[in-house]
Amino acid sequence: MIALLAGLALGASQPAVVPEPTAVVGHCRFIIADLSFAGSPSEQARCLLTHVGYRGKLGREPERLPRGLAGVLDGRSRLPAKDRVAQLLDSEGIDIGGLDEPVSRARDGDPAAPLARYFVIHDTSTPYYANAPFPADIDRDPKVNDFAPYFPVGGDPEKVPVAHLFLDRLGAVKLGQLLSRPWRATKLESRVIGLPAKGLFLHVETVMPRRRDARIEGWNDAIAPKPGFSKAQYDRLALLYIALSVRAGSWLIPAQHGTIDQGLPQAHDDPQNFSLRSFDRALRHRLRQLK
Ligand SMILES: [Zn+2]
Repeated sequence: MIALLAGLALGASQPAVVPEPTAVVGHCRFIIADLSFAGSPSEQARCLLTHVGYRGKLGREPERLPRGLAGVLDGRSRLPAKDRVAQLLDSEGIDIGGLDEPVSRARDGDPAAPLARYFVIHDTSTPYYANAPFPADIDRDPKVNDFAPYFPVGGDPEKVPVAHLFLDRLGAVKLGQLLSRPWRATKLESRVIGLPAKGLFLHVETVMPRRRDARIEGWNDAIAPKPGFSKAQYDRLALLYIALSVRAGSWLIPAQHGTIDQGLPQAHDDPQNFSLRSFDRALRHRLRQLK
């Protein structure tokens, strides 16, 4: 956490603290006045895609982005045509609510505020197996891939579903919040930046079971599967990244929950075991397919 944040009350029960608009907050230096993290899109992505390790500990920031993302974020790869992407989503049975309506805008949908800029990757950390082993085939396990827990019947619509999109280990996609709805799912957005952040981030939850690490006392969900993501998840995540960017009208900057909230109290550790290389390979494959 940087010095500017020292002293701000960030506990789960306290109300959000509204920082000065000139403030720079978070590990990847979000500049509130600019509604942006510091640096060029590539520089931002390098920080935001730093590997999130065991219990949320960050690895070393990548020196450069892999070539698919590098091409996208430095402007060499143009956005694919909307009708081609719409066709592809259709042919694969993926419904994200269409590509014509705009995505959410920052400042809780202020018409004068910028459209969403960040594509935030999460893992659900659900289902939780406690001290029991993971199922033998987590990618095909019906309980692991069940979307129902994320869509509780009678749930508070201000709280659930917790993200815009859900992605299971077979690659199935389910729409949670409408992409046009400003929605927050990190502590940096809701407890540090406050309202200006609301709508600037689009959130994707990828299904990943967890279990307890017996070496740590008490409840924890520190053990994630290895590999963390299935092949189908990388493939569909890449397609969603393209589709949401097309809907936003420019390439979104990919980010992870764990890098966004790094340094904040009770920061999450997701996504675990996310391979930037695997994601980039899937992205390049999808971009070739859309040429
Ligand atoms: Zn998360």
